[in-house]
Amino acid sequence: MSRFRIDYRVVPLDLRHAFTISRGTKRRVRNVFVRLHHNGITGFGEAAPNTRYGETTERVMEWLEGLPDEVHEFTDNPDRFADRLEQVTRPVCAARAALEMAWLDWWGKSRQEPLWKLLGSESAVGPVTSFTIGLDEIEGMQRKVKEASEYPILKVKLGTDRDREIIKGIREVTDKPIRVDANEGWKTLDQAKEMIGFLADRDIELIEQPMPEGREEDMKQLKAFSPLPLIADESFTGSENLAQVAEGFHGINIKLMKTGSLVTAMRHIDRARELGLQVMVGCMIESSLANTAGAVLALRADYADLDGHLLIQFDPLDGLQLDEAKRIYLSARPGLGVEWNAGAEE
Ligand code: MG
Repeated sequence: MSRFRIDYRVVPLDLRHAFTISRGTKRRVRNVFVRLHHNGITGFGEAAPNTRYGETTERVMEWLEGLPDEVHEFTDNPDRFADRLEQVTRPVCAARAALEMAWLDWWGKSRQEPLWKLLGSESAVGPVTSFTIGLDEIEGMQRKVKEASEYPILKVKLGTDRDREIIKGIREVTDKPIRVDANEGWKTLDQAKEMIGFLADRDIELIEQPMPEGREEDMKQLKAFSPLPLIADESFTGSENLAQVAEGFHGINIKLMKTGSLVTAMRHIDRARELGLQVMVGCMIESSLANTAGAVLALRADYADLDGHLLIQFDPLDGLQLDEAKRIYLSARPGLGVEWNAGAEE
């Protein structure tokens, strides 16, 4: 029987600036790049494991090493391949996302069609992506805002005990729309309400994950209180009951590295729409390979937060592009349409 050949390698990606959120600081990530080969065609995928979800580079590699035999059996049906991966025990979502991404890239290349078209999107252009300003001293954050002058929407990380000073400092240097991501940093309902009240007067577009995951009762009250949309990130990984998530939030942030599958993520978007939820597509620290796959999804979203590849020093791939307005747009090349840069050999 005809079989897929799968291999991988680890590529360290250094950040331009140390990247700090309420949980800690990163200077370098070690992502896993997967290749899937069949019939002279190679598809590429990327895993960006995140320890918040208990995933590491080592766990990604273990999962890839232990793949059951049937995963390698040929199929040209995306639902069948996604379902097969979903049945692999001890799931590692970033690894699964990478392998499915490689398969989808291979599939598009074998059909000689761009993936976004094969998956039913009519336009290659999606929402404007935000650009993230990580935590730092106020002057450092002001400097990063100035460096990001070309980006029309900023996402500012909060969840500290100096959040008001940070926003005041940033508002001294820009009047752009700002999205706030507290990364679970506001620990009590009172603190969250106070911060939202403060932010509501400062041209903030939305707030991501104000409180720790698992605080459903507090979030119901916060949703009723908040004049700003509240978006679930850590509270939505893909395995939750979306109707319950909708009780505490106005929208969800979908990331491939959380759902473990682009095919499944499209089903989440359909369900979110039925429930009246807004949809953001976000990313981890990842190259333009994984961000291109995220962009395929973001064509269906209200908000894109696909700046991971802009935050690293060297992007090994020539992937996701932004137009002049900083909207994401996808190439007309087959599959994901992503190519390796010279010197960053496959
Ligand atoms: Mg977030």
